[in-house]
Amino acid sequence: MLEWLILGGGVHGTHISLALRARGVPEHHLRVLDPHPRPLAAWDRRARSIGMPFLRSPDMHHIDLAAPSLHLFAHRHAGHRDLIRRYHRPSLALFSEHVEHVVTRNRLDQLRLRGQATRIDQKGDTFRVDSDQGQLHARRLVIAVGAAGGPRIPSWAAPLLLTPSPRIAHVFSDTYDPHDDARAADLVVLGGGLSAIQLAIARARDGARVTMLSPHPLRVSDFDPDPCWSTDRCLRRLARLHDPTARRRLIEQERRPGTVPPEVARQLSQAVQRGQLCWREDPISAAHQRPEGLDLHLQSGAIVRPDRLLLATGLRCHLPFFLAHLAEAMQLPIAPCGAPWLTPELAWAPRIYVSGALAELQLGPAAGNIIGTRLAARRIASSS
Ligand SMILES: Cc1cc2nc3c(=O)[nH]c(=O)nc-3n(C[C@H](O)[C@H](O)[C@H](O)COP(=O)(O)OP(=O)(O)OC[C@H]3O[C@@H](n4cnc5c(N)ncnc54)[C@H](O)[C@@H]3O)c2cc1C
Repeated sequence: MLEWLILGGGVHGTHISLALRARGVPEHHLRVLDPHPRPLAAWDRRARSIGMPFLRSPDMHHIDLAAPSLHLFAHRHAGHRDLIRRYHRPSLALFSEHVEHVVTRNRLDQLRLRGQATRIDQKGDTFRVDSDQGQLHARRLVIAVGAAGGPRIPSWAAPLLLTPSPRIAHVFSDTYDPHDDARAADLVVLGGGLSAIQLAIARARDGARVTMLSPHPLRVSDFDPDPCWSTDRCLRRLARLHDPTARRRLIEQERRPGTVPPEVARQLSQAVQRGQLCWREDPISAAHQRPEGLDLHLQSGAIVRPDRLLLATGLRCHLPFFLAHLAEAMQLPIAPCGAPWLTPELAWAPRIYVSGALAELQLGPAAGNIIGTRLAARRIASSS
C-alpha cells in the first residue's frame, strides 16, 4: 500500500511529488497516476499547439524546489539568449529543458504510473482508487488533475464539434493537430486572450490569412493575476473572507482574464500593420458548415467565410465526475460555485489534499498557475 498517491502528473502533481520526496517520503511510498507517458505532457501539448514562444510567468516560477533553479540552469546550459529581459520570462524551450533536467535528476519519472483515476472509495484509513489500469491503495491522496473541465466551447459551436471535421477545432482538445491548419488558406481564430493572440501570430507567420475575432477589446497587463497573489499580503485578503461566495467574487475581480503582456500586444499590432493578420472585436453568434468551408455570423451582422475555425477560448474549471461522486459519498464540502471548500492546509477531508485550479478558494487566482503549485506544495507537505 502507498503512503501517498498523487492523481495527475502535470505541473502541480510533478512538483508536489518532488516536494514530498524532499520532505523525506521514500520513493516506494509515493506514486503519481497520470494517463500520459511523460510529466507535464498535457501542458507541453497545449503550449506547443498555440506556438507559445515564451512563458508569461518569470523564471522564478518552475517545478524545482529552489527559487533560482531555472535562472541558474539558464546561465549554465543555455546562456542568456533564451531568457527575455522583461521580467525574465523563460522561453518554452528553456522551461521544457529545465523540467526534463529536474525530472531526471530527481528520478521523478520512476514515480509515475500510467492510468486515469475513475473512482475513489474510502475503506477505513485507506483510499481505494480505481483507474482504467487497475486498482491502487493509498493512505493519502493529492488531487492535481488541473482545470479538469476540458476545452471551453461556445454553445453555437457544440453541434459542429459532435463529428470530427477539418473545418473546426478547439486548440486545447486532445484531437487538435496543428498540421491540419497548414491545409487552410483562410483561418479564423476565436478568442481575445494570450493563447488566441500567440496562435494567430504563429499561423500568420506560417503563411495563412488569419482573422482574429475577439469578444472584447485588447486588454493589456503584464501578469494574470497581479504578482501580489503569490504572496501572503494578497492571500491574507482572501483568508479574511469566510464566505465562499465572497471569495469567488474577489478571485473573479482579480483574475484579469483575457489579458496580454505589452510586448505581445505590440507584436499583434505590428502584424496587423504589416497586413499579416486582421483583428476584429466582433464575436461569433452562429456558425454553419458547408462542404468547402464555414459561414460565421458575427454579432455586428457581418459574415466571414474561412476554411477553418480555431477556438482559443480556454479551459473550463470543473469538478470531474469521479470527484463529484467522492464528494457525495463522503459528504465533502462544495462551495456554491462548485469548487471544493478546503481547509487552509488544502485538505478537503482528512488525508485528501487538492492542488491547482480546484484549490482557488484557498490559494486565490494564481492557484492554477505554476506559482500556485509552489504555494500548494508548501501547505500540503508541511501539514502532513
Ligand atoms: C497555453 C497555456 C499557457 C500557460 N502559461 C502559463 C505560464 O506562462 N505561467 C503560469 O504560471 N501558468 C501558465 N499556464 C497555466 C498553468 O500553469 C497550466 O494550466 C498548468 O498546466 C496547470 O498545471 P496542472 O498540473 O494543474 O494541470 P495540467 O497541466 O492540466 O495537468 C493535470 C494532469 O492531470 C491528469 N489527469 C486529469 N484527470 C486525471 C485523472 N482522473 N486521473 C489521473 N490523472 C488525471 C491530466 O491528464 C494532466 O496530465 C498556462 C496554461 C496554458 C493552457
